Amino acid sequence: MHLLLRLTALLCVFLLTPAVHAAGLKVSLTERSRWPTRLDSPEAFDLASRAELAVFVEAMAEADARDDAPGDAASVARWKEGMREVLVENFARARETCADGALLCEGPVPASWEALVVASKEALGTLPAELAPWYAEQKGFHQGYVYELVRLAGLFPQVTSEILPLDPSERFGLELPDRSFLLTFDDGPTPKGGGTDKLTTQLRAEGIHAAFFVLGNSHEARRKETSVKRLRALYAGMCVGSHGQEHRSHATWAGALPGMQTFHARLAESLPEGQETLKLFRPPYGQRNAEVLQALARMGMRNMLWNIDSQDWHASNSGTKAAGRVLSLMLVWRRGIILFHDIHPKATEALPRIWRETRGSGVRWVDCREQ
Ligand SMILES: [Zn+2]
Repeated sequence: MHLLLRLTALLCVFLLTPAVHAAGLKVSLTERSRWPTRLDSPEAFDLASRAELAVFVEAMAEADARDDAPGDAASVARWKEGMREVLVENFARARETCADGALLCEGPVPASWEALVVASKEALGTLPAELAPWYAEQKGFHQGYVYELVRLAGLFPQVTSEILPLDPSERFGLELPDRSFLLTFDDGPTPKGGGTDKLTTQLRAEGIHAAFFVLGNSHEARRKETSVKRLRALYAGMCVGSHGQEHRSHATWAGALPGMQTFHARLAESLPEGQETLKLFRPPYGQRNAEVLQALARMGMRNMLWNIDSQDWHASNSGTKAAGRVLSLMLVWRRGIILFHDIHPKATEALPRIWRETRGSGVRWVDCREQ
């Protein structure tokens, strides 16, 4: 009987854990260590981008052929349609710097998903031998990544997430220009001397203005530990957005809206210099509903999600793997909003590697104050 009770309790915990970010879920990781060159010019970025896109396209076409996507079929179909358009457009962009004889530049630029699938398959079938280890590493990564996305799309009607929009006003990153990326950090601030301090120092040294989506309770704790003046200095040069009072699903938590205006007014008292109002909101787990979006619109705020997830919170991830995953996804998406967490130490290791790898590539780190 005791065992049965314990099993039931375990099952309840599992079912109550937000399904999309269930702790036991495997995430797809790569060190992306086998690619032979740095991304130190626009041409080098585009060549690597064509290669990553071809592998992603191959993995997605294989998933299509299996036709075993979990969850809501209409939602998966809606996501696939949008994703195919993005991939065709991105591959055409990555072809713009093609010179004579460059890899993955053969034939006309594929103008449809079907043509892109054929072109990717042909190109990957004739890869030079020195790229075989890279292909083996990235194939497994993209197969896993496609599964992550398809799964989120299938779950979307039930729990919502960053995979699809609920409203056209929401930002995901695809509205940014080619090669432009915005860095964002969730779940902070940490206590004094923690990840938030380290990251904001690193970002200022690099001249990057990133957005930090703070939790009301953690922000209040840090305010009590230090002061309003010190909070302003902590986020100097950055943007502060709201991640909710508590880390709970804003699709289902009845307490999400009642106190929001008061806690946002409290946050607004300690914004860094140069930021006049609290403009950006990001719901925990990306989970929200129409009511939350309407309330944000009334407050003059915008919902900002992401398209590139570092998965840095996951126990199996590391600084090197988070960098490898983010770099791979930057090459597939070619622009976007990148999600890290300042409460986990991995971003402090991953970011210098990403910056080093993309120096000279034409990648632009978007200023959060322009958003
Ligand atoms: Zn969060």
